[in-house]
Amino acid sequence: MYWNKDIETLDRDGLEKMQLALLRKTVEQAGHSPYYQLLFQQEGIAPDTIKGLDDIRRIPFITKDTLREHYPYGFLAVPRGQIVRMHSSSGTTGRATVIFHTARDIDEWAGLVARCMYMTGVRPDDVFQNMMGYGLFTGGLGFHYGAEKLGAMVIPAGAGNSKRQIMLMQEFDATVIHIIPSYGLHLVETFRTMGIDPHKDLKLRIAFIGAEPHTEETRQRIEQAYGVKAYNSYGLSEMNGPGVAFECPCQNGLHTWEDSYILEVIDPATLEPVPDGVEGELVFTSLRREGMPLLRYRTRDLAFVYPEPCPCGRTHRRISRIKGRTDDMLIVKGVNMFPIQIEKALMAIPEVGSNFQIILDTIDDNDFMTVKAEIRAEMFTGDLKHLESVRKRIIDDLRSELLVTPRVELVEPDTLPKSEGKAVRVFDNRKQWG
Ligand code: AMP
Ligand code: ZN
Repeated sequence: MYWNKDIETLDRDGLEKMQLALLRKTVEQAGHSPYYQLLFQQEGIAPDTIKGLDDIRRIPFITKDTLREHYPYGFLAVPRGQIVRMHSSSGTTGRATVIFHTARDIDEWAGLVARCMYMTGVRPDDVFQNMMGYGLFTGGLGFHYGAEKLGAMVIPAGAGNSKRQIMLMQEFDATVIHIIPSYGLHLVETFRTMGIDPHKDLKLRIAFIGAEPHTEETRQRIEQAYGVKAYNSYGLSEMNGPGVAFECPCQNGLHTWEDSYILEVIDPATLEPVPDGVEGELVFTSLRREGMPLLRYRTRDLAFVYPEPCPCGRTHRRISRIKGRTDDMLIVKGVNMFPIQIEKALMAIPEVGSNFQIILDTIDDNDFMTVKAEIRAEMFTGDLKHLESVRKRIIDDLRSELLVTPRVELVEPDTLPKSEGKAVRVFDNRKQWG
């Protein structure tokens, strides 16, 4: 059940020793990049000044802005000729950042993804349909190379083209899929219109869902509709992409691969570490990258570390499901909320379909929130008026989840715009003050 038992179950002491040795190597390697060369000179940092893991705290944090300021090559730590590939972040917030990989980096990354897939039960005789965008986005190629390393047969389907996706699954007996959760929910509608029952007509058993925040309710919907076990996959292009943290068969938290990354969780306001169990911003240091090592990268992703060891025997610490990014937080009528809270309330209501929007306006100088939710096709009789009780229930559930009362509008199935990539849910039309 382990891809690499020695590493996955290494005791904490052994893991920390390994991390320290790799951190020193990473400091040495990063020192070849223009950015770190200057920084380390200014701060007096060198491999031999890193005596313990706590010394990482002498190294300043970096953010997306730091990467942008030194775009494109300021963090490159090898001659350009040694780079074999670039990727970029999805760029949902401002200019995308780019990451460069050597051949060894790509191989290490594929090994991590293979480890994740193997952990959930994927084996060489599986047929893996990768429904993530291929290209600059890391979800496609990242999983592709991991699955090939594991030895599974890959169908590089890419994103979108729902009918073809389903035909591929059916004709080639796909057993494992990788899909963005919001798109996974849309595809359920396509199954229905094509008259396909995944439980009877397909051979699927495992789904990997990731690349965007999603709730336990969404996972359950996907598991039920497809007849699979769905595992949460977390990663970010700055740390390669997928393969940073992944759910094991216990489906309770995501193991962060600490032989390849140092994980810190900080309070985003004070930048001080928070204890296990307390939510904070995830900060990662890459430990095995040579092309573009990054130290203490602030992800803006919010999660907490589970204090207890995992029953599966892996010693690498688990993070919780991501609640959202610090910059996704909405302040409505002075109340802080995350889009995922709205998803949680909506997806728990069986009459609600897969797609929804959150629209914010300013009316008479006040915040005004509208939630538009699609009705599930099976529940739709052609008349929205019969669904008044559902609408009221949504308002009540949202009020108790958010402490703000939104206006709720129900819309017919399959009418809100869909995204093949990460879902766009929030439309903030409010007046910007100051
Ligand atoms: P990218 O720019 O494409 O590298 O996207 C990375 C970001 O996607 C992360 O920093 C997270 O905000 C988000 N993300 C990736 N995987 C997950 C996941 N499983 N759950 C929640 N958010 C995720
Ligand atoms: Zn586990």
